[in-house]
Amino acid sequence: MTPLKQLTQIIYPPRCVICGDFLWRAPFDAGDSPNSICRECTSDFSPIDAPFCTICGMPFVSDEIENHPCEDCLRTKPSFQSAYAPYRYEGPVLEAVLRLKYSQKTFVADSLGPLLAEFVKTHFMSLGPFLTMPVPLHPKRLRERGFNQSLLLARHVAASLNGELDFLSLIRTKHTTSQTTLSKRERRKNVQNAFFLRNPDVVKKKNILLVDDVATTGNTLNECAKVLTLGGAEAVFCVTLAKAVI
Ligand SMILES: [Zn+2]
Ligand SMILES: [Zn+2]
Repeated sequence: MTPLKQLTQIIYPPRCVICGDFLWRAPFDAGDSPNSICRECTSDFSPIDAPFCTICGMPFVSDEIENHPCEDCLRTKPSFQSAYAPYRYEGPVLEAVLRLKYSQKTFVADSLGPLLAEFVKTHFMSLGPFLTMPVPLHPKRLRERGFNQSLLLARHVAASLNGELDFLSLIRTKHTTSQTTLSKRERRKNVQNAFFLRNPDVVKKKNILLVDDVATTGNTLNECAKVLTLGGAEAVFCVTLAKAVI
């Protein structure tokens, strides 16, 4: 850390972006990107525990059973191999994602990224190598927001796997309205044919690790996976920081 940065931190001690508590007493690390979320808030992140669907990752209510494909996935097999997330999209994780996306607090990705990267290392390292790709934003949305939160997370993921990162080949060609207010059916239609693979050679015969911040219905991941598979990808594995558990 530079002396100027140190001085700034003494005058304005960093606070947790979720609960507002001072972080100077116990920051996670003293590097250039000190953690922006306190230990208490991080430990309140709700994990997705087994048993869950081995394809869409949705947890089952009963804990008496083993992991297996859920009925929805058996009925209509998604284009992706699996779509897992370490956390449920609720409580402090939801708060953190909202701060990241809508309050321009891009540094929050430096706290969330390593958590997702750790999850990926545990679950996917043995299945690699992977080409990591973030779910793209439409250029209009990218201009409005100024950054793609999925790319910020994907950078941490790719680095932890010592793998390649490609954030240019897969593009979003349809400017979709926000998924949050739509019904299940509308959500599916909303992202249909929304993506395009500019350069299929990049994905040919490769295992792709598709990264997004949140999965709600899984339609966005599925549409991307469809395009990547048609482009010649061997298999598409998806990871998101959080998953909406309905
Ligand atoms: Zn906190
Ligand atoms: Zn499923």
